[in-house]
Amino acid sequence: MTQAETSGSSRERLGFQAEVKQLLDLMIHSLYSNREIFLRELVSNASDACDKLRFEALHNPGLFEDDPDLAIRIECDAAARTVTVTDNGIGMSRDEVIANLGTIAKSGTREFFARLSGDERSDATLIGQFGVGFYSSFIVADRVTVETRRAGESVAQGVRWTSDGAGEFEVETMERAARGTAVTLHLRDEHAELASGSRLRAIVRRYSDHIVQPILMKKLDWKDGSEVALAEDEQVNRASALWARPKAEISDDEYREFYKHVGHDFDDPLGWTHARVEGRQEYTLLLYVPAHAPFDLWDRGARHGVKLYVRRVFIMDDAEKLLPSYLRFVRGIVDSGDLPLNVSREILQESKDIEAIRAGATRKLLDLLAHLAADEKDRYAAFWREFGRVLKEGVGEDGANRERIAALLRFASTQADGDAETVSLAEYVARMKPAQRRIYYVTADSRSAARSSPHLEIFRAKGIEVLLLGDRVDEWVVGHLAEFEGRPLASVARGGLDAEEIGESAEAQKDQAAESEALEPVVQRLKASLGERVKDVRVTKRLTESPACLVADEHDPSANLARILKAAGQPGPQWQPILEINPSHPMIARLVPDAPDFDAWASVLFDQALLAEGGQLDDPAAFVKRINQLMLSPAT
Ligand code: ADP
Repeated sequence: MTQAETSGSSRERLGFQAEVKQLLDLMIHSLYSNREIFLRELVSNASDACDKLRFEALHNPGLFEDDPDLAIRIECDAAARTVTVTDNGIGMSRDEVIANLGTIAKSGTREFFARLSGDERSDATLIGQFGVGFYSSFIVADRVTVETRRAGESVAQGVRWTSDGAGEFEVETMERAARGTAVTLHLRDEHAELASGSRLRAIVRRYSDHIVQPILMKKLDWKDGSEVALAEDEQVNRASALWARPKAEISDDEYREFYKHVGHDFDDPLGWTHARVEGRQEYTLLLYVPAHAPFDLWDRGARHGVKLYVRRVFIMDDAEKLLPSYLRFVRGIVDSGDLPLNVSREILQESKDIEAIRAGATRKLLDLLAHLAADEKDRYAAFWREFGRVLKEGVGEDGANRERIAALLRFASTQADGDAETVSLAEYVARMKPAQRRIYYVTADSRSAARSSPHLEIFRAKGIEVLLLGDRVDEWVVGHLAEFEGRPLASVARGGLDAEEIGESAEAQKDQAAESEALEPVVQRLKASLGERVKDVRVTKRLTESPACLVADEHDPSANLARILKAAGQPGPQWQPILEINPSHPMIARLVPDAPDFDAWASVLFDQALLAEGGQLDDPAAFVKRINQLMLSPAT
């Protein structure tokens, strides 16, 4: 931030952070047709400010000064073309004003801006996901003034902030008797119609009815066809906690608007669950699944989105103990009837009550997801695309709900088109072959690498479905999910093949035994030649096209996992695969144990098998040299 001008009167002119400038530009252009939302955003901020004051005042009642009734006020002046939203909430200090209204503090901001394409239509949907907040004022205003004083500070510590949204803003210290914040919009010519009491009322009722503080406006009268504001105030919203009302009385639109407030989201949610739980613990929860992943979903310190209330009093944002980490994308509120009002984060860490609430909330959410998966497949597919990778973490994290989470998983498979993850374990089990006992999968670096793995050859030939796992987290999933509905999960790249299970006839098995015996000298010679690089060499039925492949021994980590561990710098045991060779492949048929180039063939076979399953060669140049040497040697 540059400080362009400082005068003696504490007035500073400062530049917006570059991203704010971009955001303002984009918003003014792309949200023009949604311009009414500025009011929702300002009222939402005012409401949060009142919540924060009420919470801080639990420990410091003096913050209420002599004005304990929290409220939000909306006024307009048609002649001056202004709209003002005032709250008597927590307010902001000068430093807070500069930080909050000059920069964007969200994590993922840079990534977000990198994703913008310059195409207004697609950028407009992105901006919705990012959240618009205070800056949406500039959609309708060409100048915005904020006057604020933090609760508990002296009257002399008021602050005025003004900007035309073009790139800079001014802040100065001022005297301000009233606690809290007043935001005044100077409307652009073309939005002058918004400076109307009846127009603003309609917007408040549509978007902000659920706000818990009263929203006050001047009563209206009509004279000669135009409105006249009277001196008295009236409350224009219902001002009751939405979640405390009976479900039957709440419309879907009300649920959606409330989500936009608690979730700081511009888009509708995918679904929600609202429940009042009675018993040992009494609480109400209203939890939402967003339609889009937030930008900080993968940040270690990502915000959790559940607010904690105690008997309708806001206690804290980001109450990370209320849901497990694999549900960190959920937004909403939990209102406890039992916790003490002075509950702190430290107390929450230890609290048995919170554990009970967390278990209940988790179940409700998993129920909601199960319901979407069963009855609203498209929505569930959208959910899975956005959050599937996060939900997968739950398989390892939440043993108590493992089966329920397993039922929600979706996979790519050899029997589904494309790389989209659409197959559930239940569907897989329903399609299993009569003799098949296990659920087969292959893990690799990516789904397309998984799809072309040589380990799939026999399964393809026999029409046995294999799940294609290409995410890093998938190794963790299969590591924790030993079985589903009593069927063990099995990697196609580990252990021996069960001939009966894949439907090999007794005759074919006999043939294979004979083939193995015939190849025994080759097998022995390969073992001697490859030495430490392999744990074993054996003849396989696994392959129909490739000459050889590598598999892990029954209890060893898969090659993919070994690579992940190595890349993460974790010391693992030396990975030693088993080399399996395809007896019907012409390349195997031409291996002669005492040929002079046998060692070169053995190395090439091994390296090829390693490459085919996504591994890396220790010495690629030597590999190339050997290939060239073999290509030049006369056919034997
Ligand atoms: P968001 O509300 O999503 O955090 P905004 O851009 O709307 O983003 O606001 C940025 C920050 O400015 C808020 O997080 C809050 O700290 C502060 N703020 C905005 N409006 C008010 C207000 N009326 N009273 C106190 N603080 C406010």
